[in-house]
Amino acid sequence: MRAVDIIVRKRDGAELTAEQIEFFIEGYAKGAIPDYQAAAWAMAIYFQGMSDAEATALTLAMLHSGQQLDLRDLFPPGSVIVDKHSTGGVGDKTTLALAPLVASLGLPVGKLSGRGLGFSGGTIDKLESIAGFSVDIASEQFMRQLREIGVVLGSQTAELAPADGKLYALRDVTGTVPVLPLIASSIMSKKLASGADAIVLDVKVGQGAFIHDLEEASHLAQLMVGIGRNAGRRMAAVISSMDQPLGRTVGNALELKEAIDALHGHGPEDFTQLVVTLAGEMLRLGGRPGTREELQALAKVQLLNGQAWNKFHQLIAAQGGDVAMIDDPSLLPAAPIVEPALAPGSGWVAELRADQVGLVTVALGGGRQRKDDLIDHAVGVVLEAKIGDAVEAGQPLCWIHAPDEKRLAEARRRLLLSAYCISESPPAPPVLIHKIVE
Ligand code: URA
Repeated sequence: MRAVDIIVRKRDGAELTAEQIEFFIEGYAKGAIPDYQAAAWAMAIYFQGMSDAEATALTLAMLHSGQQLDLRDLFPPGSVIVDKHSTGGVGDKTTLALAPLVASLGLPVGKLSGRGLGFSGGTIDKLESIAGFSVDIASEQFMRQLREIGVVLGSQTAELAPADGKLYALRDVTGTVPVLPLIASSIMSKKLASGADAIVLDVKVGQGAFIHDLEEASHLAQLMVGIGRNAGRRMAAVISSMDQPLGRTVGNALELKEAIDALHGHGPEDFTQLVVTLAGEMLRLGGRPGTREELQALAKVQLLNGQAWNKFHQLIAAQGGDVAMIDDPSLLPAAPIVEPALAPGSGWVAELRADQVGLVTVALGGGRQRKDDLIDHAVGVVLEAKIGDAVEAGQPLCWIHAPDEKRLAEARRRLLLSAYCISESPPAPPVLIHKIVE
């Protein structure tokens, strides 16, 4: 078998066998297949797609490229370890609040998170705004920390689904992120490798997600739920809107601050609603008694009583982060320039394109243009006005946190031209949660 033949088969629209997919992934993970061939293959998949059987084979091949954590003996029999993953969005800092929240309710949460991908942000980049915070967690530490404090957030290692680690970084810079089988296999290989018994997926749909259409998002949700179930996991997927950014901040340290606010019980309404919905599903799959509404109410109380915040504190300390920075978020990285983009006219915000806000943040330095770019944790956008808000001409629509005047001007131009749309009449209220796939 040769890599080039597998690329040609996919380029020409043929269905690949599980053996061909395994050969390609194993070769890529070991370095026998170079980046340029993997990039060509990913682009062929982008254009030709994959059947559900191919996507499942790809997931398993990536899973088998590394170890699988066996968490069974860490907790007493009957305990359920839960995990969560989002398909990627803008302003999506959900994990930062959700993981400690659920862990503080007694369900262990062990999670591998990702870095920013395309216009979407990544939990790992956000956490690295905290000096000293280590995301490179070896399997042994992952298990020890999970047992000791019930929560761990690590990045992909060379041990767990390493093929996804390589392919993820390559897709980010080759225009091959938004394709259903690559998203499904990337997420599910990591989730299966990290050993949780129950997995809740947040499938984003809309302009600021990799999937724009509700039907396709439902297919992605069902595909991932099916892959997980076949591997013996309890699964649910929440399909949530990403037409506008989640919450009011986009950018690594800015989002971290907003998650800290939510952990103190005063996060923005949409963000809190999503966190509580996902927490309710995690508690349900974790076997907690109660209706969906009761479990969500339980999660909401936990954001208000300080226990979720205490767990977050423990998590940051356990992974070497400087807790002074979370106790006093003014110590987090801050941009030298903070300037508004002003409303060009009066009316209502009818659109706030999340993808454009994400791209502005990447261009400010908050995301990567090339695989090994360093990122600026301080920069981003704080949204003053969101969809449905009434605005007066000249009032700030948002605040741009920029590293220099040139990038400030470019960000302002793009936000006013491409992200915000002001209309003369109020738009329909935005929907946040479309549905839950069980
Ligand atoms: N998150 C992942 O881990 N992989 C993707 O491809 C998209 C989102």
